[in-house]
Amino acid sequence: MSILDAADKIKSNLDKEEMLNFLFSLIETETVNPPGNEYLLHDIIIKCMKEIGAEVEIISKDEKRPNYIGKIGTGKPSVAILSHMDVVPPGEGWTKHPFQPYEEDGKIYGRGALDNKGSLAASWAGVKALIKSGLKFKGTIYFCAVSDEEMGSDYGVEYLMEKGFKPDYAIVPDSGTIDEAIIGEKGAAWFDLESYGKQAHGSTPELGINSIIKVSKLIADFEKFDFNLKYDNRFTPPTINVGMISGGNAPNIVASRCNVTVDVRYPYGITEEMVKKRLSEVIENLKKKDKDVDIRLGEIKTRHLPHVIDNENDLVEAFKNTASEIGMPMRFATSSGITVAKILSLNGVPAIAHSPDSDHTWHISDEYVRIENLEKCAVLWATVIYKLIK
Ligand SMILES: [Zn+2]
Repeated sequence: MSILDAADKIKSNLDKEEMLNFLFSLIETETVNPPGNEYLLHDIIIKCMKEIGAEVEIISKDEKRPNYIGKIGTGKPSVAILSHMDVVPPGEGWTKHPFQPYEEDGKIYGRGALDNKGSLAASWAGVKALIKSGLKFKGTIYFCAVSDEEMGSDYGVEYLMEKGFKPDYAIVPDSGTIDEAIIGEKGAAWFDLESYGKQAHGSTPELGINSIIKVSKLIADFEKFDFNLKYDNRFTPPTINVGMISGGNAPNIVASRCNVTVDVRYPYGITEEMVKKRLSEVIENLKKKDKDVDIRLGEIKTRHLPHVIDNENDLVEAFKNTASEIGMPMRFATSSGITVAKILSLNGVPAIAHSPDSDHTWHISDEYVRIENLEKCAVLWATVIYKLIK
């Protein structure tokens, strides 16, 4: 069967109403992280798993933070599609109640409508349509609902990796847009720039060394900081953000200490060591002009390594071919953000991210998802899965 025929079969078996009912029940159940409380979705998830004939395994580090793995079929290869059940807090500025979903102008509104409950509902509806269509396949589908994505995945995908969950491929419908799939993500390193000076009376600053002023000479250039490093050309250049600054004791004391916390996002091909080396060089140059500069690089406090899938990977091929066969325009790009695709990829599971987003509604008030996009994604993802395991 051609991919286009398979996609048509899946599309004709897709039940939109059922998908939206499932999405509504997901949004109505508050799973704001922290604390998450994803266990509140237990009955809803188990019911939907049964409807697709999945054998369910629950893997939890904490019983209130379950991860559901629904297994359909057996053997190789195996493809997982993983969405998270937790949502970010609603925040201010909602027109209507964030946990009372509603439909308007072809969109579903509510916290989690896009991130990530919309994707959970779409992937479920897609898998269900694939099974209903009677298409034969020989590998395994893992339909997964995981916990704790918004706060670092310690109870979610990190724990699944620890427990040995290792599908051959993974689709993470939690990043990218309707016409852009994400094949790699930058690394991130958070650390302090520790600036040291000499305390003196505020009335005689010339007798001290002001650590705040010294470090400001360094960070003043960060908006256009030149890392002067080569990297994988599928990525955008590295960036450096000054996120926090603290220093000094009182207005009338020359500040002898100042800490600047930065978030460096760097492409594949660059390492943490290269980032730190480059910053050290710039600091050395500053010292040559001003011997009182004493800035040291602190230990890395938060670390994510960069990852990217090989262009020739079957998963990328399947995504590319399917999208083009069914007439969905699709770019393949890398991202500066971080999803569980990174955790999976760094643990040897090639993962691609894609989502039904077209209006950047992640984490905003009045979050919404377009129904039309959910339907498109449901068909695309299910067809990609079918192509990999047929
Ligand atoms: Zn998300």
